[in-house]
Amino acid sequence: MNKKIRIAVQKSGRLQEQSVKLLKECGLAFSNGPNRLKAETFNFPAEILFLRDDDIPQYVEDKVADIGIVGENVFIEKQKQVDLVQRLDFSKCRLAIAVSKDKQYDGPSSLEGKKIATSYPNIVNKFLKEKNINAEIHEISGSVEIAPGIGLADAICDIVSTGSTLLSNGLKEVETVMRSEAVLIANNSLDNEIQELLEKLIFRIKAVNTAKNNKYLLLNSPNESIEAITKVLPGMKSPTVTPLQQEGWSSLHSVVNENEFWAIIDQLKALGAQGILVVPIEKMII
Ligand code: ATP
Ligand code: MG
Repeated sequence: MNKKIRIAVQKSGRLQEQSVKLLKECGLAFSNGPNRLKAETFNFPAEILFLRDDDIPQYVEDKVADIGIVGENVFIEKQKQVDLVQRLDFSKCRLAIAVSKDKQYDGPSSLEGKKIATSYPNIVNKFLKEKNINAEIHEISGSVEIAPGIGLADAICDIVSTGSTLLSNGLKEVETVMRSEAVLIANNSLDNEIQELLEKLIFRIKAVNTAKNNKYLLLNSPNESIEAITKVLPGMKSPTVTPLQQEGWSSLHSVVNENEFWAIIDQLKALGAQGILVVPIEKMII
């Protein structure tokens, strides 16, 4: 019997939608109704398990699931015997320490002897140790941001993306403890067959995520500018050059990185490029 790789994803919450989307973009077809605990994929030997994200590292260590998608913060906090096998480039956030906005803060030493509320005691402990600070950690599982307001703690350490939750609770961010994104974790002793399926999946994830960060660029160039324009275009190799019907003009095709994109466009225009088209790429195998 052919084996299936069991993939754990968050049942509901901030990682859920994008985890499912990524697996679907990798060609795994499955239906995920709101109350399903398990879904079979139709066209890839996999089974999707929907679990609480906090439990996923333990399940992966125990091989209830072979692999799973969690926030890096949860991966680090749980300290399980699992490997981080691929960063996933979504759910980017940071774990930050915050204090009441009217409290004075002069660096980590201001935390000495204080009480810090958090859902991430291990991560906070490590941070305090590195800074040589003694503080009391008060572990709470949710609504951490209200702790200072109700007198439960002097500071908090929690997930921040924009900072608006902190602001609305009268807090200010004072330290970044770690940066996080969604990651794929795996059990560290997978059978060969499952390992092969994992590698196939990682290959597809890379193709999907590389494509997201790149655009396909088409433009018309006067023939005398081809050389200069080619130098500007990074491309996977050199750009594809096709002569146009119109005498003295060619069409150039290339791939550009999203981050370099606007800087390149300005240079291309200056070199006489016309009819510039930028097209999203669905998958990119490099
Ligand atoms: P619960 O266990 O009650 O579902 P949770 O805090 O564990 O709550 P979520 O809030 O769904 O779960 O967050 C899951 C993960 O998503 C976090 O561990 C973190 O990696 C990431 N995350 C959380 N908040 C944000 C945010 N505002 N922006 C981006 N990523 C976030
Ligand atoms: Mg959770």
